Amino acid sequence: MNCYECAARAMDAPAVAVCVDCGVALCIEHAEVTPRRLTRTGAMNRTVVVGPATRTVRCHLCRAAVDAATAPHGPVAARSGSPATAPTA
Ligand SMILES: [Zn+2]
Ligand SMILES: [Zn+2]
Repeated sequence: MNCYECAARAMDAPAVAVCVDCGVALCIEHAEVTPRRLTRTGAMNRTVVVGPATRTVRCHLCRAAVDAATAPHGPVAARSGSPATAPTA
């Protein structure tokens, strides 16, 4: 299997991973790896981090979408260079 992003640019590169969200195959250049902490619910409903960090592989599109969706102040604050403490309306 070859990398989807490379194929879209008329290049050939073997895929080494698959995007966890959209399922496209990715080469080492296009695979974006983020650390993922597994948790369990402890006493008093506290969330407890367990074990070493694992990883999640996404394509650049899905990574950007997840970053925007999980940004504290929405997609505008997700852009690099935006102030971390944007005023809320
Ligand atoms: Zn690629
Ligand atoms: Zn994807």
